[in-house]
Amino acid sequence: MTNTWLDDFPARLKKLDHTHLRRRRAVVTPDGGARLKVDGRSMLAFCNNDYLGLSTHPDLVQAACQGAKAFGVGSGGSPLVSGHSPANAALELALAEFVGLPRALYFYAGFSTNTGIIPALAGAGDAIFSDTLNHACLIDGARLSRAQIHRYAHADLAALERALTQSSARCKLVISDAVFSMDGDSANIPALLALCEHHDALLLLDDAHGFGVLGPQGRGSLAQAGQYGPNTSRRVLYMATLGKAAGVAGAFVAGDDALVEWLLQKTRSYIYATAAPALLASALRASLQLIEHDEWRRTHLHNLIARLRTGLTDRLKNSSWQLSESQTAIQPLLIGRNDEAMTVMAGLRERGLWVPAIRPPTVPEGTSRLRIALSAAHSEADIDQLIEALATLARASR
Ligand SMILES: *Cc1c(COP(=O)(O)O)cnc(C)c1O
Repeated sequence: MTNTWLDDFPARLKKLDHTHLRRRRAVVTPDGGARLKVDGRSMLAFCNNDYLGLSTHPDLVQAACQGAKAFGVGSGGSPLVSGHSPANAALELALAEFVGLPRALYFYAGFSTNTGIIPALAGAGDAIFSDTLNHACLIDGARLSRAQIHRYAHADLAALERALTQSSARCKLVISDAVFSMDGDSANIPALLALCEHHDALLLLDDAHGFGVLGPQGRGSLAQAGQYGPNTSRRVLYMATLGKAAGVAGAFVAGDDALVEWLLQKTRSYIYATAAPALLASALRASLQLIEHDEWRRTHLHNLIARLRTGLTDRLKNSSWQLSESQTAIQPLLIGRNDEAMTVMAGLRERGLWVPAIRPPTVPEGTSRLRIALSAAHSEADIDQLIEALATLARASR
């Protein structure tokens, strides 16, 4: 065959190169504190979601080793057949207690949690209401469900209310990031819940970036909004991932007992996937202890956030680069053009600083940015070094 579509791929890749959209992976090893060895070179990293600096903590490593000794390294099956270990069962109880909700279900990954639970909750004839800045896995889960999807402009509660009012679907599901992953801003949870209450809807909150960081003892965005314990609304289904602040891998969903039992029965990505290995559940129980008791990690992180914001606001005041209105560990610096964002990223890299540039389609056209992620593993001197480097690059770009 001379003319086949399989020959299109090299040209498609070239097009990615021309538009500065080709992504490349680095080979990365932890290198102490917030440093990473990147393709062999030690870099100060502002690019990972290990917000509390727990991913290399000796307690977690030891717990993982103990889990491996007790249960081996693989679970061997779906949780519904033979993959549900005592470590996984204990973790689910600990997670439910920690977030103050009746029951939790532990998944091997966050992405497949959302792509699985949304179709288990809503189907043809139902309606899903989705913030336009939601994470890709919420968007894909909604598409898989075959429900009608109403996208509302980011954080536009009036638009959401109109859409809810106009819908005649019996099952209405509102889906939202609790902390938006590329902007760092938080959803207005009390207002979302009030709308769900009024319109007989269920709220699915994805707290990938709030769990461990926000709320009392790091219990997350829902607890921060006062939804914790016996008074929690049954209209909320709380989802959080465990590969970010918790420092390990996986995710969980928590809420009303019958609702969680339904998800256990009907979520295809739960039923037809091999359970997370017990060693991860063991590490996660150790992580929950540190999240709850190491208050200093959150205090330190919040001091670093304030230091970065004050420093950049001051040093970039004559620049067109814009710091977003975020109070979380995600601090995006809006640059605008793809190539300029790439140039700044390269300039930082030359100085030994690793800050990822985020480009379309991950963010809207014209809003390419540096996504600065802070961690309790950073020191004040690390933050100052980043501020100085950005101030120098901003002067050079004018
Ligand atoms: C990272 C992330 C996920 C995916 O979780 P994984 O465990 O990495 O698969 C889901 N939702 C949001 C908002 C995220 O940032």
